[in-house]
Amino acid sequence: MRRPVMAGNWKLFKTQAQTRDFFGALVSSIADVEHCDVVVAPPYTSLVAAVDATRGSQVSIAAQDVYWESEGAFTGEVSAPMLADVGCDYAIIGHSERRQYFGETDLTVSRKIRAVLRAGLKAIVCVGETLDQRDGGGAEAVVQRQLTGGLAELTGPDLSHIIVAYEPVWAIGTGKVATPDQAESAHAHLRSRLAARYNAEVGDCVRILYGGSVKAENAAELLGQPNIDGALVGGASLKAEAFLPIVEAAKACVG
Ligand code: PEP
Repeated sequence: MRRPVMAGNWKLFKTQAQTRDFFGALVSSIADVEHCDVVVAPPYTSLVAAVDATRGSQVSIAAQDVYWESEGAFTGEVSAPMLADVGCDYAIIGHSERRQYFGETDLTVSRKIRAVLRAGLKAIVCVGETLDQRDGGGAEAVVQRQLTGGLAELTGPDLSHIIVAYEPVWAIGTGKVATPDQAESAHAHLRSRLAARYNAEVGDCVRILYGGSVKAENAAELLGQPNIDGALVGGASLKAEAFLPIVEAAKACVG
């Protein structure tokens, strides 16, 4: 049985004060939530406020990116040991917005994942195809390449620190959600690749989240699919009252 994970990605939103307000509302409301892990990824400048506001709760904090070197002359970057130092438990790596706007490649994803694991953190690794790639029949090959490239050099035991997020690019921030069948089929494919590359246990145990316009109205149906183990939620994670019912919907997870 895979424990569901409900993760929020705030992207470039929220000041420290807004971060404290959000968790003021969220933390008490999910005090009784036992059915899933809850992770929220604020921007770097709000990480400390988020860690302080969630201390003692079951909410874990993620960074939205990381650099692969620990320290050095790399102006503007933040390293995995620095994220661990401020109390992060996770880093999101390879989000499609990083791939699209900031030159992220499978090679940089792989370097970042290894840096995160070295620092004792867990990685939420994003893969997903564009609409052109899907329409051209190449969706499975694209996500397979991203998965294989990103996880390069990892061993089976490393995979216990990895969560995969399948996020079709055409569904992110567009309001256009993958159908439960489309998402399930992509997740089943990713799971079968993990089993083939590592072993059946890795295939069974790695949690694979769906991301792309998840909302309270569509969450339960997606999460009811056997290979969908949670969600990575962008826009709808910005308000506690919108994120809460999505967290509740993880009760539909059957994986
Ligand atoms: C995301 O940012 O990972 C995401 C899935 O965004 P949205 O839920 O807004 O589509």
